[in-house]
Amino acid sequence: MTEARTVLVTGGNRGIGLATARLFADLGHRVAVTARDPKSVDDRIMSVSCDQTDSDAVDAAFEDIESNLGAVQVLVANAGITRDQLLLRMSDEEFSAVIDTNLTGSYRMARRATRAMLRARWGRRIFVSSVVGLLGSAGQVNYAASKAGLVGLARSMARELGSRNITSNIVSPGPVETEMFASLTDDQQTTIIEQVPLGRVARPDEIAETIAFLASDSAAYITGAVIPIDGGLGMGH
Ligand code: NDP
Repeated sequence: MTEARTVLVTGGNRGIGLATARLFADLGHRVAVTARDPKSVDDRIMSVSCDQTDSDAVDAAFEDIESNLGAVQVLVANAGITRDQLLLRMSDEEFSAVIDTNLTGSYRMARRATRAMLRARWGRRIFVSSVVGLLGSAGQVNYAASKAGLVGLARSMARELGSRNITSNIVSPGPVETEMFASLTDDQQTTIIEQVPLGRVARPDEIAETIAFLASDSAAYITGAVIPIDGGLGMGH
């Protein structure tokens, strides 16, 4: 990507989001990140407080970014949570909280980014799904549903906004070395890694590289794609 863009990475105070924000900053872009607890992580990156389950907070965060960095041209919808539980024990709250953050939250951010992208007739949206969105995962009906939902969301936006030069793509990581993966027990981590043909977890920067590619001019003719970055874990879907 040659031209400097304004990039917003949701959930960018750690993990995949932070690695992605840093890579965009390395590439010379203007970068903002959102999180509920937006610690200052890098002096090249604007940190904004935003709980994406709240539409007013989303609106306020965009206004803050727009007045400091200009309209958001690249949106990386990365923020996500897990509330793992077996189906029989899962509460409505555990189900709704995950859908509201991962799926509805991404929708809120993407909707808010639309007007400026339409006006500019240029935009890039990258949604961070997960291999379990298509594979399924015992104990994660809420999380897998939210991640599968992102595929329909992004592909519908790809159709609705494509004629205005706005692309919408999905990356689908397998296990990545972040706090989210570290929160699993050693046994759970080992079981997952055993199923990965490449036999290891990904580093956050390996996810960031594909996201940056999808935002670049080199990916101008890619939209509605689901790109696996999973060491082969999800092969066949
Ligand atoms: P982390 O748990 O390390 O980071 C999650 C980020 O989301 C944090 O910045 C967190 O900040 C933010 N966040 C959570 N809830 C909200 C909210 N309501 N509003 C705004 N921000 C919020 O996760 P990872 O880096 O591991 O994961 C990033 C994405 O990648 C997620 O969508 C995850 O589902 C996906 N993924 C991760 C995999 C893995 O193995 N790690 C595998 C496949 C997909 P704060 O808590 O301060 O709000």
